[in-house]
Amino acid sequence: MRNVHSKLFTPGPTEVRPEILQAMATPQIYHRSPEFRELYAELQPKLQKFLYTEQTVLLLTSSSTGAMEAAVQNCVGKKCLNFVNGAFSKRWHEITAACGIPCEALEVPWNVAIKPEMVEEKLAGGEFDAVTLVYNETSTGLMNPLPQIAEVVRKFPDVLLLVDAVSAMGGVKIEFDALGLDVCLAGVQKALALPAGLAVCAVSDRALKRAEAIKPRTYYFSFPVMVKSHKKNETPATPSIPHLFALNAQLDAMFAEGLDRRFARHEAMASAVQRWAKQHFDIYPEEGYWSQTVSCITNTRGISVDDLNKTLVQEHGMRISNGYGDLKGRTFRIAHMGDLTVADVRGLLATIDAILGL
Ligand SMILES: *Cc1c(COP(=O)(O)O)cnc(C)c1O
Repeated sequence: MRNVHSKLFTPGPTEVRPEILQAMATPQIYHRSPEFRELYAELQPKLQKFLYTEQTVLLLTSSSTGAMEAAVQNCVGKKCLNFVNGAFSKRWHEITAACGIPCEALEVPWNVAIKPEMVEEKLAGGEFDAVTLVYNETSTGLMNPLPQIAEVVRKFPDVLLLVDAVSAMGGVKIEFDALGLDVCLAGVQKALALPAGLAVCAVSDRALKRAEAIKPRTYYFSFPVMVKSHKKNETPATPSIPHLFALNAQLDAMFAEGLDRRFARHEAMASAVQRWAKQHFDIYPEEGYWSQTVSCITNTRGISVDDLNKTLVQEHGMRISNGYGDLKGRTFRIAHMGDLTVADVRGLLATIDAILGL
């Protein structure tokens, strides 16, 4: 096995800084000790500041998919509307159905954004009491207009808005309270730039009330069970303690950089890649909805994405991603999220130019 590190321009896992890996290696503490409760209590206000909320931010020891499952298990009473325009939003519909929860998918072509009018029209029927939306579709590099959609959902007081912000959180500002979200979740291996294995999940008081009122569908992912421990600065089961140390260090680093500066850095990285992609290829999603954290580039030149990636990995120590699922070969993806810099991104683009003779 070769064990040479390639810098990751992949949409999760993303590149993790050595300082964060070092924090992961902090000696273990007992999860029922004052030291643990102190760590947990220290994390909570930082997470609230990070997500612009005064409500509860839970930490789940699972990848994002677990948190997606938790959201629908805890928050759907009547029926869930799953908006689908990519692989992960499709997965959320499949999860909802697999949990035996009444649901319906509204699917649009994957290069098209979910528009507020579609949301309003579907909710007006009064059939649904929860909506799932993937903010940033990592499979297609498309960002749905979350603020406008949230505004529409808020006109329906009984409808909870559940948001997968997996590849957005940490790269894009998400004002949980101001937007009136009910669940906002993300695994930490994307724009938060930690190794995979933990999910951050903000939950509104309204969502907690719903979770208390419905018949429990889960134990491990039960919000009421988690909240009971949360109030004691604990988790119901043993959490991934290395992740908590690393997340604490990463939140400090983000505040040191400045959240607004962090988001501006993501914008700058995104526009560098978008400009390059428009010049040499094309961009998969419709204009106006390009992601700020990952670009899905249409392979208009018919290059071999596998060969390009092989050369990048073997000769330059960098890795990008092929297209997701059916989009493999027809598109490729460059992630520009987490702790990467504009210089990193420019370096990657210059290297691809040299390889392809652009
Ligand atoms: C990566 C990703 C997921 C799945 O994440 P896991 O952590 O692998 O479970 C879900 N939604 C989106 C938008 C993603 O980018």
